[in-house]
Amino acid sequence: MIPYGRHTISQDDIDAVVEVLQSDWLTTGPAVQQFEEIVADYCGVQHGVAVCNGTAALHCAMYALGVGEGDEVIVPPITFAATANAVCYMGATPVFADVCVDSLLIDPLKVEACVTPKTKAIIAVDYTGQPCDWDGLKAIAKKHNLKLVADSCHAIGGEYKDRKVGQCADMSVFSFHPVKHVATGEGGMIVTDSDDYAQKMRVFRSHGITADFRQRAEAGSWEYDMVELGFNYRLTDMQCALGISQMKKLDDSIARRLEIAKVYDAAFAEHPLITSLKSSADVKNAYHLYVVKVGRTAEDRKAIFGGMREKEIGVNVHYRPVHLMPYYRETFGHGDGLCPVAEEAYIHLLSIPMYPALTDEEQEYVINALKECVESVCGQ
Ligand SMILES: *Cc1c(COP(=O)(O)O)cnc(C)c1O
Repeated sequence: MIPYGRHTISQDDIDAVVEVLQSDWLTTGPAVQQFEEIVADYCGVQHGVAVCNGTAALHCAMYALGVGEGDEVIVPPITFAATANAVCYMGATPVFADVCVDSLLIDPLKVEACVTPKTKAIIAVDYTGQPCDWDGLKAIAKKHNLKLVADSCHAIGGEYKDRKVGQCADMSVFSFHPVKHVATGEGGMIVTDSDDYAQKMRVFRSHGITADFRQRAEAGSWEYDMVELGFNYRLTDMQCALGISQMKKLDDSIARRLEIAKVYDAAFAEHPLITSLKSSADVKNAYHLYVVKVGRTAEDRKAIFGGMREKEIGVNVHYRPVHLMPYYRETFGHGDGLCPVAEEAYIHLLSIPMYPALTDEEQEYVINALKECVESVCGQ
């Protein structure tokens, strides 16, 4: 089976983890801070706060902004559920703003239409690895005094105009799940230039306690204060060691992803029933995913999906619109028609293999298989 995405682990990654296993610190040791500094420096921002997964990172960001009951946070419908869930964790309400038809990135015009006196923040998602229209979003945030969070779980290493992903919002969130660019098993990080947010999130990720074990050991004191109701969202040194090693390969991995994308773009450019998502000229897309819209109907997509799976190609669909998930329908009374652009796009979406280790031969097989499936399902 050729999967839609896959991590790459080499001997130096293994050696880095083994080294930590033989050291004094399995968690909350030196590798954590080192990993935070490497990611923050890479992005060109002041702080990195490592946590146990991308979802926890989103939760930390919502906490740092002081989002709470009665607040609204604007999110896109085409994303992993965690983006909206993080808003719900704080007792606030996610408000779904529809996406642009060509890129499926959140549409600033729709965002502005969703702003109310209760709106506190926007979480925009760099879906597939393409940075959002951050200038457009920033203008809205400024006008209405909103905070801006980037769910950049797909986009580490991407660029928006002259800025690296990580610099586009008040806080930016990454995931280090193996299917993402940088793998730590489970893992996440928030990067920010704000000392205040970083400090708040460091406390929140460790039970709301103001000094970690290492600081206490150095101070020779057993005392600590628990000042907030935090969580245990820490990332281990073993995971951070893997992350540090993986960061060394990020730029090469994105270069390979861009090569693969170029070949797909050319292969489908003229095809009437396979449409690649549009990538804007002023961004560097990090291509976590390669998404195409296929077929004429939802039934077509279903059959094409099945055909590809039969050909041992692990296609997937990213994503079923979040507002149509049973939890969101039941909790907030959402239904069909809330985000028509996202809902219409969804019935055509298909993610095809995109990862650095995909070979040219495998990619050619995928391209031919997709064309065959579309032709056999939809006719000529
Ligand atoms: C992967 C992902 C997350 C959550 O990350 P985890 O590390 O799996 O918790 C959040 N948002 C988006 C868009 C993602 O792709």
